Amino acid sequence: MNDEKIFELIHAEIERQRDGLELIPSENYVSQQVLLAMGSEFTNKYSEGYPNFDELDDESVISTKILPNYRYYGGQINTDRVERLAIWRAMKLFNADHANVQPHSGAQANNAVYNAWLEPGDTVLGMDLGHGGHLTHGSPVTQSAQIYNFVRYHIDPKDGRFDYDEIEKIALKEKPKILLVGYSAYARIPDFARFAEIGKKIPGCLLMADMAHVAGLIAGGVHPNPFDFGFHVVTTTTHKTLRGPRGGLILSRGIVGSPLKKPEKTLENIPILIDRSVFPGTQGGPLMHVIAAKAVAFHEALQPDFKKYAARIVANTAELAEQLKKRGFKLVFGGTENHLILTDVMSSFGVHGGIVEKVLDDIGLTLNKNAIPNDPEPPFRPSGIRLGTPAITTRGLMEKDMEKIAEWMKLAIDNRDNPTMIKKLRAEVQQFARQFPLPSDK
Ligand SMILES: *Cc1c(COP(=O)(O)O)cnc(C)c1O
Repeated sequence: MNDEKIFELIHAEIERQRDGLELIPSENYVSQQVLLAMGSEFTNKYSEGYPNFDELDDESVISTKILPNYRYYGGQINTDRVERLAIWRAMKLFNADHANVQPHSGAQANNAVYNAWLEPGDTVLGMDLGHGGHLTHGSPVTQSAQIYNFVRYHIDPKDGRFDYDEIEKIALKEKPKILLVGYSAYARIPDFARFAEIGKKIPGCLLMADMAHVAGLIAGGVHPNPFDFGFHVVTTTTHKTLRGPRGGLILSRGIVGSPLKKPEKTLENIPILIDRSVFPGTQGGPLMHVIAAKAVAFHEALQPDFKKYAARIVANTAELAEQLKKRGFKLVFGGTENHLILTDVMSSFGVHGGIVEKVLDDIGLTLNKNAIPNDPEPPFRPSGIRLGTPAITTRGLMEKDMEKIAEWMKLAIDNRDNPTMIKKLRAEVQQFARQFPLPSDK
């Protein structure tokens, strides 16, 4: 019997996506091939363990050669090759010695790294959540915060950049086992060299970057790669700017080898420690259909067109920021160098972020309310909104289209108590959005 209810809702969601413009900076629209791989029969397969990591030197060899594996079930001749292709492509894309493509999400990837390197009670130095850090970087509501000791650094209010002097001071005092750079609401390019310099002063300190938001920009060559500055581990999601299926990925530098025997905890052994920490440490069977879709997304990101896509995201965001500024939006950090914009709508227009999120949703522009650094408003009623262009850039919008979006945003805020005007704006956004089909419609 057909499940009409669910398929009606899937159809309604496709319509919602077609009719609106997605401005949440952590979302994107995947290609038809990514969707097909994700919906494939690989979902039927159990593949606990790992493929063989030998002979990862050429795509054609990987896709044909069958090697003995480190799996717990039979029937892996196709899954092994899919996972090896995903690993090889991820390594190539980010210039890593090893890739673990099995984490089910970005949160799982981060937890696996903590579990691989830390003992309970060890210290991690990461970005304050209220200043743009992520939940998985030690929010008190997470499990990892119960196990490890998280200490935090902040944004320097003078220039809206990381306060590197503060980071160095805390690092020398707290001697963290992990120095973590990563964020969900920071619009500047971090000084990875400075982070590495600080981390190297602490013996046994693992340099970890969580590039979940900017992975696509790094893959596209418009953002520095932490590995070029001596970082040991880079975690990411695969579904944000990287434009793949929902999932996580851990990249590392070090010696790659059999995950069967537990090695000593040294920086060289990080790849094996991580593999053992993902499975069996923190996860069971990998999602092979998602790994197939990750491999497709990595393949797409390795194409020359992806460089253009990444450059266009940055250009679109810069132009959108300019157009917003012209209309009185105050930008937190003073501007943007990546794919996202944080604006303080409370001090700009006297409305809190939640109200703006709601009225923009009503006209078909999706974004989220967000706290700003040192927000005077409470967390459930933050001063800011966060938006970005990765998804609309995938839809095909160009710099010339950014003025329209900024104007709609301003008009919607000004007319938030005028239902006739909101309805009119809704119709305009819908008509405009319909000119840009979803990649899966093509
Ligand atoms: C989105 C994000 C994550 C978590 O990803 P999930 O797949 O939602 O678990 C982790 N770190 C950062 C910096 C993120 O932005």
